[in-house]
Amino acid sequence: MITPLLPTYARMPVAFERAEGMYMYDTNGKKYLDFYSGIGVMCLGHCHPTLVNALKDQADKLWHTSNIYQIPEGERLAQRLIDASFADTVFFTNSGAESIECAIKMVRKYHHDKGNKGRYRMITMASAFHGRTLAGIAAAGQEKMIAGFEPVPDGFDVVPFGDLEAVKAAITPETGGIMVEPVQGEGGIRPLPLETLRGLREIADENNLLLVFDEIQCGMGRTGKLWAHEWAGINADIVTAAKGIGGGFPMGACLATEEAASGMVVGTHGTTYGGNPLAMAVGNAVLDEMLKPEFFEHVVKMGEMLFARLQGLQQRHSNFVSEVRGSGLMAGIRLPDVPTRPAVTDLISRGFCPAPAGDSVIRMLPPLILDESHIDEAVSIFDEAFTDWAKNGVPGV
Ligand SMILES: *Cc1c(COP(=O)(O)O)cnc(C)c1O
Repeated sequence: MITPLLPTYARMPVAFERAEGMYMYDTNGKKYLDFYSGIGVMCLGHCHPTLVNALKDQADKLWHTSNIYQIPEGERLAQRLIDASFADTVFFTNSGAESIECAIKMVRKYHHDKGNKGRYRMITMASAFHGRTLAGIAAAGQEKMIAGFEPVPDGFDVVPFGDLEAVKAAITPETGGIMVEPVQGEGGIRPLPLETLRGLREIADENNLLLVFDEIQCGMGRTGKLWAHEWAGINADIVTAAKGIGGGFPMGACLATEEAASGMVVGTHGTTYGGNPLAMAVGNAVLDEMLKPEFFEHVVKMGEMLFARLQGLQQRHSNFVSEVRGSGLMAGIRLPDVPTRPAVTDLISRGFCPAPAGDSVIRMLPPLILDESHIDEAVSIFDEAFTDWAKNGVPGV
């Protein structure tokens, strides 16, 4: 019999009831260290007072109006995001997938309005993730997501991960843009080398292509800068955001330069909920915390510490861990011979919550507010688990 919730997820055997800061508590009162933060969403940890207060205050005033009216808190949030980054304009959405959709439409409309109607194609990279809409799964091009849902929209050319020569070779007179995650999340915490990001910028400039960075997972401070592409010292034409931008409130954004957004005039795009007063109140509260001096320095420092401790873990347990990779507080350890799902289920039973990702990687996206004690706690749980697996057998094998 089908379950009341459409059974598209193989859910872990745990349900949480409440949470605070770095910890979640399940329905039996057991405590868990959260190193996933709901896929990097809870960037300020759980129930951060600034966010809770912003949401409660706004809930007493006004929840939702419509984008046919002005929304001053949205204008303020857009301006703050613009002041902090490459962008000149922002479209607010409810999710990452909708931010991607806006970006794709923006690229097509840009070339259309420049008189290049046929330039609708975008180059993307293998093992990417761009959301679950038809365009999103077409853009990622992964068979496991597309199978059974064909036909998906045309217009995406997938090249091997990080291969600049393949990007160049894929450009045709129909190509309008390039879209990549500066650090792949679902694909297994794979950072694109900074010189590759710079190479993409050059290729885009030489061929009049718009460069879209999907920063839905790696953006909003996750790598220690507001946007991950900033590490390469380059600008984007378009950036998609979601996840951390609402700190747990469902929202997303598509940010763009004035030039890239030039086709998106009145009537070309819209959303009912996107940018509503509740979301904007929380979004502003997220920035209140994130743009405080030393917030990003803390992320960088904790990221370096986490990376070093995970390398130590790899040395102690090289029988399991073949690689440590990531950027800032987006970290993965690769366990080529351990099935990641049962491994993560085992770690969860020990009161620690990372998550599986592609390429046999256990992924960590802890709240950005963590301190050294949480890193120590995480690494000691890994130590304990790996020692146990070496003695008693690997979960799921
Ligand atoms: C999560 C994610 C998306 C999709 O976001 P949703 O909010 O689930 O629609 C797209 N791209 C990347 C890189 C993501 O991590």
